[in-house]
Amino acid sequence: MSQSAPPTTLPAASDPRADSPAVREVACRVSDLRMATADVRIVRLAPRDGRPFAFAAGQYACLGFDGLPCRDYSIASRPDEPDLEFHIRDMGSGASTYAVRRLQAGETVTVRGPLGSATLQEGHRGPILAVAGGSGLAPMKSIVETALARGHAAPVHLYFGVRTEGDLYMADRFRDLARRHANFRFVPVVSDPGGPTDLRTGYVGEAAAADFAELAGFKAYLAGPPVMVESAIGHLLARGIDPMDIHADAFYTETDKLKRAAAR
Ligand SMILES: Cc1cc2nc3c(=O)[nH]c(=O)nc-3n(C[C@H](O)[C@H](O)[C@H](O)COP(=O)(O)OP(=O)(O)OC[C@H]3O[C@@H](n4cnc5c(N)ncnc54)[C@H](O)[C@@H]3O)c2cc1C
Repeated sequence: MSQSAPPTTLPAASDPRADSPAVREVACRVSDLRMATADVRIVRLAPRDGRPFAFAAGQYACLGFDGLPCRDYSIASRPDEPDLEFHIRDMGSGASTYAVRRLQAGETVTVRGPLGSATLQEGHRGPILAVAGGSGLAPMKSIVETALARGHAAPVHLYFGVRTEGDLYMADRFRDLARRHANFRFVPVVSDPGGPTDLRTGYVGEAAAADFAELAGFKAYLAGPPVMVESAIGHLLARGIDPMDIHADAFYTETDKLKRAAAR
């Protein structure tokens, strides 16, 4: 695993990888804002100095809004795109609520990064399994789209787990990507449909593991709520994936991090 701890004690965030682009802090302009669901907003940022913000697919950055303490958000765009894209879920207080409810186009946001080591493994030519929960779609989007844009020829599977159908977003984008890339498969999974649905139901990690008899030789990438990431890793390990081939970032909040530090 690109994490140092076993699945039951996931790290709060990966350390910067040795070959990561240098960390810098840049002032960005909010170039576009769009609600993706009732509580997830897509925020696009353009560096004010006009220089590309170098990062590897799967990394994250610490975003500072309006003088608030910075918070980690995964980068959803590809490294070759000029603007940085983030998917931010409103948690009811703090930076996320500011970003979803109050942030305006044209405002300045500071971006410090890139951070994290759960990145697309460039040398890998085998199959890819990406598993996202909620706004964990952000880094999976960057990883999957970067791999396909670079001509990855082996199968690429994206499983996107949400609670209800209303939490699903960018489904049309990924269905369209699947039409354009024969080796790409997109599977949305709803855990709490609340009624009849045409979509796959259940927990995303379980659904992903159920579709493969054997995952040896795969690279798996996971992001989202800690409980989802932790449980999905268990299911993938049961299918024989090498722990070194798992690259995951669990979206711990600052409160989670304090509780984990106190428990040590
Ligand atoms: C590597 C990484 C990547 C991430 N990527 C994303 C991403 O792409 N998208 C995304 O939406 N999030 C992501 N996160 C989560 C994000 O960093 C923030 O933790 C999240 O947005 C909440 O921050 P906040 O400032 O809004 O809330 P905070 O003020 O930090 O509060 C977080 C939650 O804890 C509650 N809380 C606050 N203080 C207390 C307290 N004293 N006691 C009990 N509860 C409390 C709040 O009500 C809220 O629900 C990521 C996290 C990590 C570690």
